[in-house]
Amino acid sequence: MSNFLAKRLNVLKPYTPGEQPQDKSYIKLNTNESPYPPSPLVKQLLNGDAIDALRLYSDPHSRSLNKAIAEYHGISPEQVFTANGSDEVLSFAFYAWGQDNGVAYPDISYGFYRVFADLYGLCSVVVPLENDFSLDIAKFDKTAGLIVFANPNAPTGLFVDINKIEALAKSNPDSIILVDEAYVDFGGVSALSLIDSCNNVVVVRTFSKSRQLAGARLGYAMASENLIDDLNRVKFSFNPYNVNRLTALAGEASIKDDEWHKSCVNKVIATRGKLLESLKNLGFYVTDSKANFVFASHNSVPAEVLYLKLKEYGVLVRHFKQDKIDNFLRITVGTDDEINNLVGAICRILKEYDT
Ligand SMILES: *Cc1c(COP(=O)(O)O)cnc(C)c1O
Repeated sequence: MSNFLAKRLNVLKPYTPGEQPQDKSYIKLNTNESPYPPSPLVKQLLNGDAIDALRLYSDPHSRSLNKAIAEYHGISPEQVFTANGSDEVLSFAFYAWGQDNGVAYPDISYGFYRVFADLYGLCSVVVPLENDFSLDIAKFDKTAGLIVFANPNAPTGLFVDINKIEALAKSNPDSIILVDEAYVDFGGVSALSLIDSCNNVVVVRTFSKSRQLAGARLGYAMASENLIDDLNRVKFSFNPYNVNRLTALAGEASIKDDEWHKSCVNKVIATRGKLLESLKNLGFYVTDSKANFVFASHNSVPAEVLYLKLKEYGVLVRHFKQDKIDNFLRITVGTDDEINNLVGAICRILKEYDT
């Protein structure tokens, strides 16, 4: 750090992404990526013509991509905003809607919410989860100008009923209700049906978790036209070409290959069921995850020990050194083979721990 850095940034604690180690090849179950490759259509489109076109700026309105997303969801292109990962959507949303009346989010959720709030110096209301990790969203009532939560939540995997979201939106007409649906393709019900009846609801999605494009960086928001205008106002003040040409093509191909998308999602859901069963049989408490990860705590072996031992065995999972959840592991659902490897490694560790 230099002496020139703004004081506020001096004390800011940046987001810590899951490890992306380069030292050896791990079974990577720590950052909720898809274990499957992108749709073959993506490869087909990212050809020589796409490379040649890189000399030109991308379309600052991402028209073709936004149209494809709008068609997929049955909404109008004016209700879609795309960005360089849903992290960027969230960043613009916090900037656009959190400055005047602050932002509220759960104590245990996606770590970036706190970081964006701190980065922009926003007033934060942190709402605690219940003891069973469920989120009582009524506790968000009249808390802030921007209310943000992930549904399903991370790292718990738990889901809030959409009727409760509608009630919150109706009773807080002066607040934006932003529902981060990074994992909704794996279970639960989308709040998308609310964007026409509630002009204060914003739904955020990503291509990183269920669409095999984490490295392409693509996310989007869906909301009423006025709210999308707000996000564009911010975007055109930061980086008008935020979605690059290759990513826009990849995203459009992905959204047009629904069969591939559904088959990958269904494989993950099937493997999740098997993983949850195996973990329960091995003495784990698990939450009822609707996401592409499970959240598990063993009845005798501490999570940190499991995390470190699994790493020695070449399996990476996520352990958060955070109050209330430091005895839990978040494990991404990989392929059946990867999960068999994981379960085998856990069995060995449990045996070692006994003796
Ligand atoms: C992974 C994740 C994101 C970020 O997704 P990107 O599109 O890769 O930036 C946002 N929200 C939640 C809850 C996530 O888990």
